[in-house]
Amino acid sequence: MKTFLADSNGYYGDFGGAFVPEILHKCVQDLQLSYLQVMESESFQREFQRLLHDYVGRPSPLYRSEYLSGKYGCRIYLKREDLNHTGAHKINNTIGQILIARALGKKRIIAETGAGQHGVATATVCALMNMECIVYMGKTDVERQISNVRKMEMLGATVRPVTSGNMTLKDATNEAIRDWCCHPADTFYIIGSTVGPHPYPDMVARLQSVISKEIRVQLLREEGRDYPDYLIACVGGGSNAAGTIYDYIDDSRVRILLAEAGGEGIDSGNSAATIQLGKIGIIHGAKTLVMQNEDGQIEEPYSISAGLDYPGIGPMHANLAVSKRATVLAVDDDEALRAALDLSRHEGIIPALESAHALGVLSKQNFKSDDVVVLTVSGRGDKDMDTYLKAYTL
Ligand SMILES: *Cc1c(COP(=O)(O)O)cnc(C)c1O
Repeated sequence: MKTFLADSNGYYGDFGGAFVPEILHKCVQDLQLSYLQVMESESFQREFQRLLHDYVGRPSPLYRSEYLSGKYGCRIYLKREDLNHTGAHKINNTIGQILIARALGKKRIIAETGAGQHGVATATVCALMNMECIVYMGKTDVERQISNVRKMEMLGATVRPVTSGNMTLKDATNEAIRDWCCHPADTFYIIGSTVGPHPYPDMVARLQSVISKEIRVQLLREEGRDYPDYLIACVGGGSNAAGTIYDYIDDSRVRILLAEAGGEGIDSGNSAATIQLGKIGIIHGAKTLVMQNEDGQIEEPYSISAGLDYPGIGPMHANLAVSKRATVLAVDDDEALRAALDLSRHEGIIPALESAHALGVLSKQNFKSDDVVVLTVSGRGDKDMDTYLKAYTL
């Protein structure tokens, strides 16, 4: 049967694989050979489930929004990842990866971060597991996201500002890979999304798949059937979307709508709509769609949402898009801002700016009255209050 999951070499159709420097070949290969065995072991599963339940606070609720259901004429449920410890879905992944790192005998954790959300989630689990934590972050981002830097420091992590390039996420990623090359034996690189060389995209998707497993159980209880007609999620690198769709990816009854960040508009030159603007290339060790100029140099993406302005996209999502298994919609800054205010005023839920892009999809689609729609609210909006206040001048 045709599947949209990874093959054993980490390919999703034409996308994926592992393109890493020679010096990392062995440690990436070790991870490729061991990750499934570790993740399927009873000791890993017991500890992972315990921490998801008692530390993260899972299962996250599936909340039926009467307001959105009435407004869009269907049955809309919100999957509340915003209620997790640390305020987003990223903790599901970092808990899983640190347990894998521990099982492989690694002592030192490195990570890269853009807005700082993945850095905070990594620093959190390093504090929990008493492991050394070094987070690479572009200097521009350090200045923009100082409160996340302070959180990481309070949690005991070392934040290393990166001054190469534009001093943003891709530069931090390069620096993290450089560190990994210098310490391949004792260091585990915790990647924050379904990106990077194989096995990261598949490993992260599996760790986040708890989201779709819960949706199945919760929908059966609410609707008497265990699948929705539509799943909706936003895509930066793709991890909350991958977790939302994982168990339904090969189920053609379920339509998948993905929101990428249109920024100021796809044709404005200020956008992060990688799937619509990207061309095939290699970024972060994987073959995927990349925003690049004619010389193949990576172009700096723009979105009002710091979590969505990644110049690549997970290989799973590139394949879903080109094979038309998923419909990808670009949601612009102003559409996301409107959707965030709407949810705040009518449901009392202030969503993360990233999640607001998923909400922005609702007005672009026509639903039937008996359609069941599940939309993942990937995180909460506390971190975005400055941006919201400036945009709305409340
Ligand atoms: C980081 C982040 C995203 C984007 O990352 P994905 O890997 O695409 O999920 C989305 N929402 C929130 C709240 C985030 O923090």
